[in-house]
Amino acid sequence: MKKIKTLQCINCGRDHKLADVKYTCASCGGNLQVIYDYNLIKKRLNYEVLKDNHDRTMWRYMDILPLAGFKMIPPVQVGWTPLYRADRLGSGVGVPNLYIKDDGRNPSASFKDRASAVVIARARELKEKVITCASTGNAASSLACLTGSLDMRTVIFVPETAPAPKVAQLLVFGAAVIMVKGTYDDAFDLCLKAAAEYGWYNRSTGVNPFTREGKKTCAFEICEQMKWETPDKVFVSVGDGNIISGMWKGFVEFHRLGIIEKLPQMIAVQAEKSDAVKRAFEAGGEMQPVSGETIADSIAVSMPRDGMAAVMAIRDSQGFAISVTDAEILAAIPEVARGSNVFAEPAAAATYAGLKKAVAEGKVKENESVVLLISGNGLKDIASAMKSAGQPFVIKADMAELRKLVSDNKLA
Ligand SMILES: *Cc1c(COP(=O)(O)O)cnc(C)c1O
Ligand SMILES: [Zn+2]
Repeated sequence: MKKIKTLQCINCGRDHKLADVKYTCASCGGNLQVIYDYNLIKKRLNYEVLKDNHDRTMWRYMDILPLAGFKMIPPVQVGWTPLYRADRLGSGVGVPNLYIKDDGRNPSASFKDRASAVVIARARELKEKVITCASTGNAASSLACLTGSLDMRTVIFVPETAPAPKVAQLLVFGAAVIMVKGTYDDAFDLCLKAAAEYGWYNRSTGVNPFTREGKKTCAFEICEQMKWETPDKVFVSVGDGNIISGMWKGFVEFHRLGIIEKLPQMIAVQAEKSDAVKRAFEAGGEMQPVSGETIADSIAVSMPRDGMAAVMAIRDSQGFAISVTDAEILAAIPEVARGSNVFAEPAAAATYAGLKKAVAEGKVKENESVVLLISGNGLKDIASAMKSAGQPFVIKADMAELRKLVSDNKLA
């Protein structure tokens, strides 16, 4: 593929040819990053071309994706999710220029579809027959959804604790589902061994260099949807660190192509006990495992699989990391819903909890424009949502009982 220059190791810098490598660095095992021939791409992908492109999906960026063409892409719409101005939510928190990027509007209801879509297309170009991944839930349900109608077998490894709606998605779309008695990290290691033993194509986050490529398209969309103005800050919830590093790569590439003039600051939001990236960023040292316990299952990670890239994204963008408690995450779900009409799963609502805290700590100025990434839909985990959503009134089908509720001012 002429547009790809090299697959470069994030850890040691070693270059690899696309044809020579499937997953990680041949020298040190580090994660790889796709580097394109940007001078070549500049001729095909620029402001003028994008303005006239009516493809409202992530595939409008095909010229800067690691695929030979459109032929093998999954047959449902991924990307070009709405970016809303969230006036009410924003004024409530003292950030009037607040935007919500609602990635729960993807086919499987999470951001992960962007990554799965690219990886599946790549796997089909390679004529792979079986695709596998380990996941806290969303990467798996995304892979199952997007391979649903394709001639491809999908084998999924999830922790036993994955929320039921995500497991339902896996089963409905026909994946073979293996629930591992252990954590996401345990499922990840087992999947890695299985892929090696059986030769299955592995989509797992971090090891597969193409997930980041799909994820960067969200940054491209934000630039376009904000009329080529870059936001000052982008809040992203972080588990493995692949979304934040992918989005940062997107902004950097658009900058490099001359499509935007300014880069945003990337703000990582983590759960208090799942904060390995925050710790490594602040200490300036090696990634250390943490307990990874949090109600926000999508960011429950002990040892981040793309942590180094995440730390680099925060550092290079002059951003920061912030952690929030489970109570703050749960409280954020109804607040986001009532302030912006968007129902977010816990890991997605965490970005708002992080924004609130950052504002309280004086880390966000009132005149700054801020984008909150809503990475997954709230219906993915209703058990958590119900913990802070309130209770319904249960009455007989009888006006007298209803009148009592009204006169007690219960419906106000
Ligand atoms: C996967 C996921 C994240 C975290 O992404 P990482 O790449 O693991 O940092 C955040 N929110 C949701 C809803 C996710 O599914
Ligand atoms: Zn290396």
